[in-house]
Amino acid sequence: MSSIGSPSGTVSTDAARKAADARAHLFHAGTLGAYRDALARGVDRVTRRVGETERPFTGVTPEALAPVVAGIDLDRPLGDTDAALDELHDVWLRDAVWFHHPRYLAHLNCPVVIPALLGEAVLSAVNASLDTWDQSAGATLVERRLIDWTAGRIGFGDTADGVFTSGGTQSNLQAMLLAREETYRRVVGGAATRPDRPQVVSRLRVVTSAAGHFSVQKAAKLLGLAADAVLTVPTDADRQMRTDELARVLDRCHRDGQVVMAVVATAGTTDFGSVDPLPEIADICAAAGIWMHVDAAYGCGLLVSPTRRHLLDGIARATSVTVDYHKSFFQPVSSSALLVRDGRVLRHATWHADYLNPARAVEQGIPNQVDKSIQTTRRFDACKLWLTLRIMGPDGIGALFDQVVDLAGEAWRRLDADSRFEVAAPPRLSTVVFRYRPPAARPDLVDEANLHAREALAASGAALVAGTKVDGAHWLKLTLLNPETTVDDVVAVLDLVAGHAAWYTAAADLSCPVG
Ligand SMILES: *Cc1c(COP(=O)(O)O)cnc(C)c1O
Repeated sequence: MSSIGSPSGTVSTDAARKAADARAHLFHAGTLGAYRDALARGVDRVTRRVGETERPFTGVTPEALAPVVAGIDLDRPLGDTDAALDELHDVWLRDAVWFHHPRYLAHLNCPVVIPALLGEAVLSAVNASLDTWDQSAGATLVERRLIDWTAGRIGFGDTADGVFTSGGTQSNLQAMLLAREETYRRVVGGAATRPDRPQVVSRLRVVTSAAGHFSVQKAAKLLGLAADAVLTVPTDADRQMRTDELARVLDRCHRDGQVVMAVVATAGTTDFGSVDPLPEIADICAAAGIWMHVDAAYGCGLLVSPTRRHLLDGIARATSVTVDYHKSFFQPVSSSALLVRDGRVLRHATWHADYLNPARAVEQGIPNQVDKSIQTTRRFDACKLWLTLRIMGPDGIGALFDQVVDLAGEAWRRLDADSRFEVAAPPRLSTVVFRYRPPAARPDLVDEANLHAREALAASGAALVAGTKVDGAHWLKLTLLNPETTVDDVVAVLDLVAGHAAWYTAAADLSCPVG
């Protein structure tokens, strides 16, 4: 062995020993026993921890946990799997937030299905990368089949295509990138003299509803659009985009010399689950030649619902669609996709690199996904959905989603009949926005009482609910994505919320009586 760079033989021997030790941790045909053993220990820990979980959260604070994490010397390894798992328990697992728990009712995090967990374990060991065929082989074809399958569920035709992404935020970003490029070409193509690109881009506008997702604003910023590029259309009482207002906004843009590059309809708003009127929006976009993007990050579960697919009627007329399998398909993070009606628009994400995806390989018909993606190295997340569909089937996923939508309906009925609470709007999917507001409540304490109730509940760890603002006031939100949650769970959580809020109201009343 050459000792170039080693001042002495002892250093070289020491280095060789360290390298040999490290090699024992590499996953390969010679270490399969260690692989099985390590994974089994990890599965064992999770099994034990979940088995003893009585609350969705321990209520741990950042102040309590930060010193534990900061106190670990990352340059001094423990060298032992069990010791490292013990430590991981201390820094995270003991105090994790458990989405599988029936009283986790806060954000759009779903409990995950076991076939997808199996997929996760398999895909990370093989570590395929979906950019090119020579790093993925069949995985590329599997992803393509799932894109085609999803496009079919949407109702797109044979020209459709798409790509898996890291999440709805990335899917929306890519949709806006493609819309910007297509619109730019349309504007420039029709111009007598070639306009200056920054000048055209500064006139581009994106229109979405007031209940749309903030990732649309973020995408506009990342894409270099004007600071005021996103125009929001008011919603009606059901929190759906008002199409008369949409038409008015489009007229105004036209008058002002602005170019609307996309209308973003939301199919399942994050707070209310409301689905914008897709057929009417499609009519308006078709008449004006505007890109229609449907953000179905949340509502995509309806694509497999045995009873509620009609809520997405009109989605087939979209130009592009965002789906988050990690929200309503019960998949582990990350698992999302962007679908486009006409696959050719994906060329705006294409860049040929000599080392990776030369034009020659494309001409030879070798399939690659990097030409469609804004990522290069990319996880085989599709593996999880594949195993889920092959083991459970789409109807199984749809049945689970239907169950949580039914539960939200029942939760709303209970809340509506309960004089302690007020509800914002009937649920469309599986969220319910409500607040504690008994008839005798002092109006000046309502906001604070609800904020307190949410925080106190989280600190106890007994249950988690979300908060949001409606017309400037603080409300609470149940996001029901767990089919294991029962009506009794919901009722018990509402009693806890009311208890904390009533305690706060009484204490505030004592210390600061009105008048
Ligand atoms: C969650 C959500 C997103 C963002 O998706 P991520 O996967 O969290 O990036 C976008 N749009 C809507 C409507 C959402 O609910």
